[in-house]
Amino acid sequence: MAEITHSTALNTALSQLQSTVKLLKLDDNDWRTLSTPRRVLEVAVPLRRDNGSVEMYKGYRVQYSTTRGPAKGGIRFHPEVDMNETIALAMLMTWKCALTNLPYGGAKGGIAVDIQNLSLSENERLTRRYTSEILPIIGPERDIPAPDVGTDERNMAWMMDTYSVNAGFSVPGVVTGKPIVLGGSLGRNSATGDGVGIAVKEALRVKNIDPKGATVVIQGFGKVGYWAGVACESLGMKVLAVSDVHGGVTGFRSVNDLWKHFQEHGNLNAPGTEKMTNTELLHLSCDVLVPAALSDALNAETAQGVQAKIIVEGANAPTTPEADAIFKDKGILVVPDILANAGGVIVSYFEWVQDKQNFFWNIDEVKENLNNILTRSIKEVESTSLQYKVSWRDAAMMIGVGRVAEAHKLRGLYP
Ligand code: NAD
Repeated sequence: MAEITHSTALNTALSQLQSTVKLLKLDDNDWRTLSTPRRVLEVAVPLRRDNGSVEMYKGYRVQYSTTRGPAKGGIRFHPEVDMNETIALAMLMTWKCALTNLPYGGAKGGIAVDIQNLSLSENERLTRRYTSEILPIIGPERDIPAPDVGTDERNMAWMMDTYSVNAGFSVPGVVTGKPIVLGGSLGRNSATGDGVGIAVKEALRVKNIDPKGATVVIQGFGKVGYWAGVACESLGMKVLAVSDVHGGVTGFRSVNDLWKHFQEHGNLNAPGTEKMTNTELLHLSCDVLVPAALSDALNAETAQGVQAKIIVEGANAPTTPEADAIFKDKGILVVPDILANAGGVIVSYFEWVQDKQNFFWNIDEVKENLNNILTRSIKEVESTSLQYKVSWRDAAMMIGVGRVAEAHKLRGLYP
């Protein structure tokens, strides 16, 4: 197999795939098929700013795989978005959908932009122009985007509208994570965090720790981090500290109290809280650490000081292979991203199914089905890990990659 030289996120993803290909005893043909993205689109996204000046941004959409169904994956607006990172994240989506047995391939997209510097109307124009540039390759049967870092249900509404205006009729199934009134699903907002909560509960069971009174630290207080905190509190756990890009805080009464302050003031410095750096937060003594911000947060430098007994990866690719090795030595149970944060794509799948059928479920059905699919996937990973004596990450990858490899073989190679 060829030597890998790429950016960190892609390096991590390829090196995990390489180990999995070895564990599954797949051959070089399989490696070449599995390690190559199927469609990579780079687009220029011109934006007329409110002051009349025109700026150009780079946008991407990567369809890593469509072997098991339409491509599926989020849209990220962040200054560090680039082609290699988008490929890496699209690859992870492929294994995640296969691991949870959703009838999807994997995709990811985004724009390299600091969205904080744009007004609401600039954000709308940028989203609509990006959608129109990637329009030829998306659609409910081809590729279904969703929110990710820097995008939310408002962006999904604009994407759905841009696609629908071009089609000439309403196409709600082209994106997931939409507002409820446009065909969104109940429970989608909290789904990824709810899933992190389910993963935390199962990991505590494996480690024989009672959730009541167990402690959790969360890096990142966005869509995933906030709802993960709410889910952990509902298990009876104490959320010790959370952080955002500016650093962490401890000493708040509840996650909801802090969220209220954050909504009103745009910062985490609620009265009575104490500040800390993001690195200090990662090194707090706790039962569970949930990285829910960006890639590579846990690396060779930060991993050594981690004291948690369990790490549940809310973010995508938060742990580098070097950090993974350190956690293995320390006996820390790592619940990998493709399992721990799969709640989002599982409820996105429910949204797509509801849109296709024009028949909408109540919240209890959504939560019950999410719990069933995710708990089943966690049990499969646990038993594969015991059977092959491998980490949960290796076990999850073996199931996900194994399913894609099998689908490739059964479909055959055209022509
Ligand atoms: P978000 O934009 O809502 O929140 C991101 C949070 O991370 C913010 O609080 C931000 O301040 C913080 N942050 C950014 N840079 C940071 C840094 N250097 N240090 C500490 N905190 C930092 O994004 P999100 O949707 O919550 O996504 C978070 C992670 O979860 C990403 O890796 C994303 O790919 C992954 N994910 C999201 C979903 C979803 O449904 N939204 C699903 C699966 C995985």
